[in-house]
Amino acid sequence: MSADNPMREALAAELAERRAARLYRERLVVESPQGPELVVGGRRFLSFCSNDYLGLAAHPEVAAAFRRGVDRWGAGSGASHLVTGHSAAHHALEEELAAFTGRERALLFSTGYMANLGAITALLGRRDAVFQDRLNHASLLDAGLSSGARFRRFPHADAAALARQLAGSGARRRLAVTDGVFSMDGDLAPLPGLAAACREHGAWLLVDDAHGLGVLGANGRGTLEHFGLGAAEVPVLMGTLGKGFGTAGAFVAGDETLVEYLVQFARTYVYTTALPPAVAEATRASLRLVQSEGWRRDHLRALVARFRRGAEQLGLALMPSGSPIQPLQVGDAGRALALSAALRERGILITAIRPPTVPAGGARLRITLSAAHGEAQVDRLLAALETVLSDTPPAVDGGAPPAAVSR
Ligand SMILES: *Cc1c(COP(=O)(O)O)cnc(C)c1O
Repeated sequence: MSADNPMREALAAELAERRAARLYRERLVVESPQGPELVVGGRRFLSFCSNDYLGLAAHPEVAAAFRRGVDRWGAGSGASHLVTGHSAAHHALEEELAAFTGRERALLFSTGYMANLGAITALLGRRDAVFQDRLNHASLLDAGLSSGARFRRFPHADAAALARQLAGSGARRRLAVTDGVFSMDGDLAPLPGLAAACREHGAWLLVDDAHGLGVLGANGRGTLEHFGLGAAEVPVLMGTLGKGFGTAGAFVAGDETLVEYLVQFARTYVYTTALPPAVAEATRASLRLVQSEGWRRDHLRALVARFRRGAEQLGLALMPSGSPIQPLQVGDAGRALALSAALRERGILITAIRPPTVPAGGARLRITLSAAHGEAQVDRLLAALETVLSDTPPAVDGGAPPAAVSR
């Protein structure tokens, strides 16, 4: 490697630093479709780390709708939505998502990151303020920072702290923002309390329900359905389509004024190519399955309960999560990596999640369950966890919090 340029030298030094801190990321090359089992490097693994919570990413009906979509529409959308990229397939999906979420309108974005960035930077500017749970997803934090609004973080899941911050703010527009289900912890935001604080202080609440939609609530309508909340309490609902829905893209749902405002002013909506129409067709098929196959949610809930029961019997320190995200706190990044590697040797794939994705000292195994898993697979996971946790004791010098120790 040539170190002939100060720019490259600086980058290389930072990479070396990250590697030394055991924070270096590497990608797996997956050789099979999504599912409970994945093939990596020619070897079959039992996987517990995808966000395909309902097992729809490779579902035959979703894949068939995708193929029919390609036959009907071709591969690309050709332009942005405001030029000629907005097909009847996109339009129908928006109408179906609006009906599903019980809102006047829904607006498709190409990714969840772009939906958050576009919505928050459109709604807020310099004279405004944004209030965010400190564990919010990176896309929400980035969006708040990019908006130029005064940026306030409140302690995790603390509605009273939000209320105090709102009371003390004289900003023109005020928007509180939270994950519905926290992506790295799996717990739910206290939406009724957050909504009450917003209502009392004339602020709006935006909920990013990337991990709740399709999964929570009797009808899969997510964290809002779980708490019995609607558009009055949460005027801005954002959802992603690449997780429970198994496809790709995202949307913001709300009233006519909100959605028309975003069509006009959300830069990540205006200045980007529309998703391929076939993706919209595939998503329409997955939305039908989300609504018609409630057994997927029932089975998933049963697997979550089975996993938590088993983990409790093993004395594992699980986080207080009732969602399919069941992280095992490890603390030290090196130990999280060692545990992930030991699991991989036993044919189980669980990625170690490390800072900066989670706070310093918060490295964990982010275990996720899917309706595509069977009970026997959950039992295999528990048995493997028992073995690797006793074989890989916490580092003496790591300073890791004493979590996730086996008996
Ligand atoms: C994954 C995720 C996003 C980003 O969605 P993409 O469609 O993957 O860009 C946004 N918010 C949360 C909470 C997420 O977990």
